[in-house]
Amino acid sequence: MSHSPIKAFRKGEVLYLAMPSSKGGYYIVAAALNKKTNTLFIGHDCPAIRHNKQCWHVKAAVEAFKEWRWWEVDENTKVVSIQKPLVLLPELELIELPGGGKTYDHDHDFAGNIKNRTG
Ligand SMILES: [Zn+2]
Repeated sequence: MSHSPIKAFRKGEVLYLAMPSSKGGYYIVAAALNKKTNTLFIGHDCPAIRHNKQCWHVKAAVEAFKEWRWWEVDENTKVVSIQKPLVLLPELELIELPGGGKTYDHDHDFAGNIKNRTG
């Protein structure tokens, strides 16, 4: 399966990721850290999250955020996933993640989940 790599954007301290869908197009996933509670909120909308299923988008967003702001997250950071439809806005700034986004390529199989995904 060929697909585009994940693209990363930022708005202030919020990370936005455009993750390729197997059906074409992208899922937009946002990651924002609440530093007071050390909680990383991952917002996106996809068929899996609508059915309360695990999906690779959340794992990939957590990994990407950890790479982007490694000094702000630690092993105690909690992750909360919320269903939220998002679009890319013109004010978002395209950024380069240290790993170039390649680490989160779903061909590399996140926790065995990705190859089963249908969405
Ligand atoms: Zn998802």
